[in-house]
Amino acid sequence: MTDDDGGERLAARVREIDPGGELIARLERDAREIARAFGLRYRAIEPERPHVKRRLGVCYADGTIRIRLFHARSGRPLKYSSLVDTLCHELAHLRHFNHGRRFQALYRRILAHARRTGIYRPGPEPTPEPAVRRTTTQALPQQLALF
Ligand SMILES: [Zn+2]
Repeated sequence: MTDDDGGERLAARVREIDPGGELIARLERDAREIARAFGLRYRAIEPERPHVKRRLGVCYADGTIRIRLFHARSGRPLKYSSLVDTLCHELAHLRHFNHGRRFQALYRRILAHARRTGIYRPGPEPTPEPAVRRTTTQALPQQLALF
């Protein structure tokens, strides 16, 4: 497996669902805030490649974090709160490279912080009224609550 795997497809897909790069930029901004609050250091926040279907995110030993932006089967964009949840999980791996108790405790603290600061807002995405749904440019992509 090389870095070129699915690179073109990823670029195309990311352009499609995140044309202005706002989604990944927002994720990076939130990651920066959380990392600063917890004294964590990452190298980069990147979108996961499309052929990787078995995980929502990954944290490499060099501090690179990859987050899957869209659902593996349907291809629909994931809810932003799901991305933030995954982000918090991967950020906790910067300190603990396992899923042990110390990892779980840090992950919970990070998620609680994100919730307090308004970065993590679980639940349905705020959607405009159906009448204006198609005309607004502000609507975030929606996803079925599959997990
Ligand atoms: Zn993990």
